[in-house]
Amino acid sequence: MKIHEYQGKELFRKYGVPTPRGIPAFSVDEAVEAAKKLGGNVWVVKAQIHAGGRGKGGGVKVAKTLEQVREFSKQILGMQLKTHQTGPDGQKVRRLLIEEGADIKKELYAGMVVDRGTQKVVLMASSEGGMDIEEVAAHTPEKIHKVFIDPQNGLTDREATEVARKIGLPESAVGEAAELFKKLYKTFWDTDASLVEVNPLVLTGGGKVVALDSKINFDDNALFRHPDIVAMRDLDEEDPLEIEASKYDLNYISLDGNIACMVNGAGLAMATMDTVKLFGGAPANFLDVGGGATAEKVTAAFKIMLSNPKVKAILVNIFGGIMKCDTIATGVVAAAREVNLKVPLVVRMKGTNEDLGKKILKDSGLPIISADNMGDAGKKVVAAIAKKKNVAVKKKAKPAAKKKPAKKAPKKSKSRGKKEK
Ligand code: ADP
Ligand code: MG
Repeated sequence: MKIHEYQGKELFRKYGVPTPRGIPAFSVDEAVEAAKKLGGNVWVVKAQIHAGGRGKGGGVKVAKTLEQVREFSKQILGMQLKTHQTGPDGQKVRRLLIEEGADIKKELYAGMVVDRGTQKVVLMASSEGGMDIEEVAAHTPEKIHKVFIDPQNGLTDREATEVARKIGLPESAVGEAAELFKKLYKTFWDTDASLVEVNPLVLTGGGKVVALDSKINFDDNALFRHPDIVAMRDLDEEDPLEIEASKYDLNYISLDGNIACMVNGAGLAMATMDTVKLFGGAPANFLDVGGGATAEKVTAAFKIMLSNPKVKAILVNIFGGIMKCDTIATGVVAAAREVNLKVPLVVRMKGTNEDLGKKILKDSGLPIISADNMGDAGKKVVAAIAKKKNVAVKKKAKPAAKKKPAKKAPKKSKSRGKKEK
């Protein structure tokens, strides 16, 4: 789960990590009020979306008067902010953070993630802050300093001090930075975070070390013990299909392709996506329906997959272990009927009650394409889309006089053609 910058900074303050003073705002008037309350003569108007790179995209602006606060808030609130992390459509800005302007002397970087190799939390810090840390890692990796933190001891004074020196902080600020790193680690640890990033961490003109940005991700599996963090969830920032899937306890992730995949087991789901790719297709989603999916759950899964307008075919790949193939087949048939399925459906089933499952699919009279193994399934689903495209192109080419309905007609006649087979 992700949270907004202003929420991350609230957590930072709770743990004693210094941040600029700031107030969230949901309207232009609130933004101006916030600036008045903060006082001073420089404010920063910051778009709050769950993505970085806002500065470059025009989502962070420095205001020198209250009038400018109003003007920038008007510009930013409601804008479709595009950054390298939002995807091409951008993300709508619904919240702002009005913050006091910091006197920045130097922008640095600090981040923490779980390092799988060492199974420890790693603190990464760099003198090169305010820019894409991925660029620094790619071109000047020697400028990123790492400490693998022993979970028994936590981040020690010595380690924290050493890192603060390595990123070029003046001796007078080293102690303060070391303290900040330790508090950052406590924030990470106590909240079951999976990522805490401060980019930039700044050294101010007054020699203070302050977290100017905050990005925190949490481990979803630990959220049950953090109701206060769950309360910060902003559904506007999440994929609506993923939200719907979570209601049914389905592990669903939206992807860019056009072949919807319904699979049981995360490993098999990944292997299925690989197979689709191998045959030149592109998965529209990752979906693991889990071990004990009911017919009801399968129907919900179908509806969710199909509400993605990009989907041109469905591939169901089920291994019947605990889950029986006939249960899945019943669910698939019910779902296909209920959603009035219009796209080709390829099903590959193996395992418990396989024959019974196949019989249910066959007897349903639905135009389901059966596959014998994963390779066969991958080939068939990719072919089904190619075929559909060809039919559409041919039909379109013929009746030159026909207007709009021509678009729909081939689809209909196409699925009818399928049924006859
Ligand atoms: P993002 O990473 O999404 O671009 P940041 O919060 O890092 O957003 O802001 C981008 C840049 O804007 C920072 O690198 C910094 O130079 C400037 N900035 C952000 N907040 C402040 C602030 N409170 N005072 C002064 N400058 C700021
Ligand atoms: Mg930043």
